[in-house]
Amino acid sequence: KITMVIAMNTRNMTKKIKVGNTFIGGQNKVIIQSMCNTKTKNIDETVNQIKELEALGCEIIRVAILDEEDASAIKFIKEQINIPLVADIHFDYRLALICADGGIDKIRINPGNIGSIDNVKKVVEKCKEKNIPIRIGVNGGSLEKELLDKYGHDNPEAMLISAKKEVKILEDLGFYDIIISLKSSNVLTTIKAYELASKEFNYPLHLGITEAGALLTSSIKSSAGLGVLLYQGIGDTIRISISDEPKKEIQVVKELLSNFNLYNNHPNLVSCPTCGRIQYNMIPVVKEIEEFLQTINKPIKVAIMGCAVNGPLEAKNADIGIAGGQKEGLLFKKGRIIKKIPQDKLVEELKKEILSL
Ligand code: SF4
Repeated sequence: KITMVIAMNTRNMTKKIKVGNTFIGGQNKVIIQSMCNTKTKNIDETVNQIKELEALGCEIIRVAILDEEDASAIKFIKEQINIPLVADIHFDYRLALICADGGIDKIRINPGNIGSIDNVKKVVEKCKEKNIPIRIGVNGGSLEKELLDKYGHDNPEAMLISAKKEVKILEDLGFYDIIISLKSSNVLTTIKAYELASKEFNYPLHLGITEAGALLTSSIKSSAGLGVLLYQGIGDTIRISISDEPKKEIQVVKELLSNFNLYNNHPNLVSCPTCGRIQYNMIPVVKEIEEFLQTINKPIKVAIMGCAVNGPLEAKNADIGIAGGQKEGLLFKKGRIIKKIPQDKLVEELKKEILSL
């Protein structure tokens, strides 16, 4: 209860920035993002992946723009999807102009990386004309040479200096629809960099740990690092990077945000670690139900417990649960046992009960 109050009431009220049909910043909501791993020019494949991610809860999606073919695909992708689309562009400002004309909703580009100030001006003028915000993405491992020479890799102060330089380039051109990320693959560096940035800027912050690893590693690094920030009210949009299918990113981020009461429609699965009192084959049941709950958009609490001695009592506030009996499960609602189910029917029956809630 206390966590909820702190997390909800002290979120930093940053500038509210329109991104297509949604907003980033200035609200008690952290917008969920992911990135396609398809080739953007493969329009059908990219659209299918975006639709799958959107169905799971992705609210903004980013695609990589490597060449003109990718940039020209934006128009056709936009026609087929509902969530805002972001173009990730490095170095070539002309690609940003093509994406803007194709209806892109946001551009991730670092003005310091696209050559002369004239190039920057062209991108800024186009973004102003089309109301397209720009995300500046500072990465702790790839800072400007002079900052790396002075501070070394992954230094939070150097990351902030780099972000300030990029922001100044845009502000000097009268552009203020800015979102900032300061990602590092080091958890402690990331925390410090975002803490510094949240004091420095009123622009919304895009949270992420970069190159965070595979599912287990990234889930822990991202939850540890970004959890500390979310708890302090820092962060307006978030992407969890995982070396896996993008849908895993959405599953992990929904779990993370719901633990801070920043995502309301995600089921809460509780299950015991099992011990010598266990009386049925519980682990496969937990795994299958955990996967099934990814498709449920309700704030329900589901408990899967190992034994009837402690299970229903410990999980008595669950909306639905099972506790192990002798090679069977006891189905309970709010701590009250309602029926006995044989082991081979447990998953099927529990799924039915969850759907009926
Ligand atoms: Fe052990 Fe039962 Fe507790 Fe599970 S619920 S850890 S089986 S005592």
